[in-house]
Amino acid sequence: MAFERYQPDLEAYVKRVRTGPCFVCAIVSRDPAFPDHHIVYEDEGAIVFLILHPTQYGYTLVAPKEHREQVAGDFTVEEYLGLQRVVHRAAEAVREEVGAERVYILSLGSNQGNAHVHWHVVPLPPGTPYEEQQFAALKLETAGALRIPEGEKAALAARIGRRMEES
Ligand SMILES: [Zn+2]
Repeated sequence: MAFERYQPDLEAYVKRVRTGPCFVCAIVSRDPAFPDHHIVYEDEGAIVFLILHPTQYGYTLVAPKEHREQVAGDFTVEEYLGLQRVVHRAAEAVREEVGAERVYILSLGSNQGNAHVHWHVVPLPPGTPYEEQQFAALKLETAGALRIPEGEKAALAARIGRRMEES
């Protein structure tokens, strides 16, 4: 799949992240101001959706529905492991759907913006040159974002979600 790459307006993005409402809570509550995150899957405790500016095809985020900030400390062990079950299912669904040679899983975020803890699930396309892997494959500054039509994003989210439901 060949999509054109673009550089999103990072200044506007950072401003929104640091001054706007929590984007995960907004997606969970179906805030109409956040219409572009295609929801892949949700259950009682977790929500899975496509990242807004994907550096890789199939780039997905997993988050608890409740607003928690500390990646480990804000959860009981059982709650944490429950979320990791969802991360595992999302990672395998993404890997199988897009044919990734490797899947990156990481939690980033900042207490100064994007504080709601979430896990990035990022498939690396087969054959990606070594120097374009790892952080280079994740960062908008180095990889740019894929311009995927909204209809294709919706279909992709549905396909990944179907694989998660079946797993
Ligand atoms: Zn939140």
